[in-house]
Amino acid sequence: MTETLVIRSTRVALPDGVREAAVLVRDDTIEAVEDYGAQLGATAEVDLGECALLPGLVDTHVHVNEPGRTDWEGFASATRAAAAGGITTICDMPLNSVPVTTTVQALRAKLAAAAGQCAVDVAFWGGAVPGNAGELVPLLDAGVLGFKCFLIDSGIADFPPLSAEELRAAMRALADSGAPVIVHAEDPAEVREPTGPGYDAFVASRPTVAERRAIETVVRAAAGTGARAHIVHLAAGDCAALVGAAKAAGIALSAETCPHYLFFAAEEVPAGRTEFKCCPPVRYAPNREALWRALATGVIDGVVSDHSPCAPELKDTERGDFRTAWGGIASLQIGLPALWTVARRRGLSLADVARWMSEFPASLAGLPAKGRIAVGCDADLVAFDPDAAFVVRGSELLHKHPLTPYEGRTLTGRVSRVWLRGIPVDPGGPARGRLLRRGGGSIG
Ligand SMILES: [Zn+2]
Repeated sequence: MTETLVIRSTRVALPDGVREAAVLVRDDTIEAVEDYGAQLGATAEVDLGECALLPGLVDTHVHVNEPGRTDWEGFASATRAAAAGGITTICDMPLNSVPVTTTVQALRAKLAAAAGQCAVDVAFWGGAVPGNAGELVPLLDAGVLGFKCFLIDSGIADFPPLSAEELRAAMRALADSGAPVIVHAEDPAEVREPTGPGYDAFVASRPTVAERRAIETVVRAAAGTGARAHIVHLAAGDCAALVGAAKAAGIALSAETCPHYLFFAAEEVPAGRTEFKCCPPVRYAPNREALWRALATGVIDGVVSDHSPCAPELKDTERGDFRTAWGGIASLQIGLPALWTVARRRGLSLADVARWMSEFPASLAGLPAKGRIAVGCDADLVAFDPDAAFVVRGSELLHKHPLTPYEGRTLTGRVSRVWLRGIPVDPGGPARGRLLRRGGGSIG
């Protein structure tokens, strides 16, 4: 017998806006979206009232680090944190794990590590590094979503950056597939050693012009090859015009930013608090304004976490030296309330949030059944109370290490229930997440 479930809410984030609706789920799929009061004869019924219903978030930028650096983060802890934060699909980055995901064999090692321990669905980016051009199409055939690359030192010796020419070669190899090349865009020629241990010196060492020059390199490569290109963690608001102009010229380019660039500003980083260190850096308040404008006008397409924790000792919190601390912000579980806390103040809606955090990332990842409350999509759904406030305590978060720059911050918006393919996610229950390939089928 098939199970049916209807979930009603006066605030359902649909692709065309927020409205009262009833969502009918049959087995694992959204079968209908009807009026709030519609009689649908379901076998189970949930009425959320004023509590909102969002499509499950798709976080295309998560460093799980397993296998190899599971002491930094792992599939079990990361996917539990994701579920608690309303994220029903994560896309794992190809570096920080050992091996890095730059060969089919390494992908197999990653799939073996992930199998059976994921609380939400997981898909995988491959890596493009010097010398693995011959692996790209086989990796794509094996099920990766596309390829991450760096134009600057990644901090990981076995994941070196591509030159402009190597970037172009990778894009040429992938142009026919439509799979995206997603790029960490900072130009090493514009980056220098910080002049001191503090945060301002760190920001000055990685100026916006480094992002600009690298984005220009990406735009040229995408224009010359026809490949689909994507800028990860855009942090320089003054590059928005460049991204917008490339899009207007018909180049297949998109860009994401992260909650921390939209929430924090460099002026607010307390001295020595290296949990704020990430690359590119969180910049000053006027830059944050520019990022919000770019997001509101659609120049920036999406918002994803870049959750990238490390072993706590690598953050060097005792000395608080931004030169030596490992870069990366841990925030997977609180990206949604962090973004919403600021978005609501700015008069933006939950439909905007759903577009940035669910719909766009699902399309970037090539997962057509994810990211929308629409007929035929997976019933990945999140009950979200947009008015509830809470104080972030790192020790209560489910990712592996409690260190987070949001510690002690009051955020608005609380995830109360999550359904993965029609079934409530139970944090202590069985790991029901699937491993997904580009297109959405099972991988491995
Ligand atoms: Zn990253």
